[in-house]
Amino acid sequence: MNSGELKPRQSLNPFQANRLRITCQYIDKLRRRFFLGVGGCNHRKDNYMKNRAHASKLSITSIATRNSCSVCVALREFQNDLLKHLEPQECRRFCNTHCWMVANSAPAECVATIFLQAILGPDWRPAAAVPEQCDLCRRIHEEKVMRLDEIAQQLREPKLRSWLHDYGTLCSRHGREVMAKLPEPLRDSVQEIMARNGGEIVEVLEGFLERLKEGSHSGGGVLGRAAEYLVGQRGIES
Ligand SMILES: [Zn+2]
Ligand SMILES: [Zn+2]
Repeated sequence: MNSGELKPRQSLNPFQANRLRITCQYIDKLRRRFFLGVGGCNHRKDNYMKNRAHASKLSITSIATRNSCSVCVALREFQNDLLKHLEPQECRRFCNTHCWMVANSAPAECVATIFLQAILGPDWRPAAAVPEQCDLCRRIHEEKVMRLDEIAQQLREPKLRSWLHDYGTLCSRHGREVMAKLPEPLRDSVQEIMARNGGEIVEVLEGFLERLKEGSHSGGGVLGRAAEYLVGQRGIES
């Protein structure tokens, strides 16, 4: 949008028309000043690359636990780190979830710049929560593909397979995605990991239902655990 596009309407009186013209010119001026400023801060990119280079990435086996899906944990860590070190140029389009995550967790200066970019950007639109539209959904998706490949690779090695079998957990969503990357004979081990996790949750859920019938609401935490098992941890993927 430039000031020429917003023409005062016929119905406006001269005073209103003049105010509208001044407002449009003012927004144009802000936009030019703002985008010139954003282009000029390359030194921040260097700092950012430095920070990222220092951020050590844990292997999937080192984050495997019996209580949480390893892919979910890895993605949660990745997302937290991404938000903590976010730079404005990395987040031009964002979905509802990521807009609020940025607002709550990214550095304040970065958040203000991202939001100004969006408000002053003539073509900015809210993105759907898909990798093709949201910059942060895309980054999470790229990380997920790498992590799924990493697990699939480890499941091909008998020692790591048995270790993951004993100590790892996968949610239903990520378990299926890992399976899709494995040849048929190796899919059983993932099925077993998922079945064990799912079986434990079924048992606890049934106990919870029984207690509800008796009037007790204790043990409701299992509902969150079941949700996690079905769709993955909250807020890492749509
Ligand atoms: Zn998961
Ligand atoms: Zn998103």
